[in-house]
Amino acid sequence: MAKKVIGTISLAGCFGCHMSLLDLDLKILELIELVEFNRSPLTDFKQFTKHCDIGLIEGGCCNDENVHTLISFRKNCDLLVSVGECAIMGGLPALRNKIELRECLEEAYLKVPTTVPGNQLIPHDQDLPKILDKIYPCHEIVKIDHYIPGCPPCAEIIWKTLAGLITGKIEPISYQSLKYD
Ligand code: SF4
Repeated sequence: MAKKVIGTISLAGCFGCHMSLLDLDLKILELIELVEFNRSPLTDFKQFTKHCDIGLIEGGCCNDENVHTLISFRKNCDLLVSVGECAIMGGLPALRNKIELRECLEEAYLKVPTTVPGNQLIPHDQDLPKILDKIYPCHEIVKIDHYIPGCPPCAEIIWKTLAGLITGKIEPISYQSLKYD
């Protein structure tokens, strides 16, 4: 069987979901037999060099660069998977969704006690990504084909889902494996 091509990206996430993927430990050797990674922090490819079968998205969208990247993944991947709560519903960054963007920026850059007095400035360079009014989960920007819940999803669930997507035999995730307490 030809290897499936996988792309991965972290948008407004903490890289915990990528770390969980690496938690596959020795199973990662089995995974490498089944897939090759293309654009991904794991390969450090910044651009796609070929079309991907599967795109794994960590994190939601907090700025226009995230949106651009997500749309590019949608164009370059047959199946797009939201991995983890940040991609699925905004996660921790979405705590700011109830607060006006201006208020967030003032709190972070003008009122923070570590700012040097007289040097308070909200960054606004044209090369910086534009911050969105709120955090958007990925499915509000592009069509998402599959979801892997968890913060982060455990390595076993990522493995089972990936194996299912690769073989075309997806099995439902049991409630017990998603209940953490
Ligand atoms: Fe990090 Fe959790 Fe968000 Fe994954 S879902 S990026 S582990 S905060």
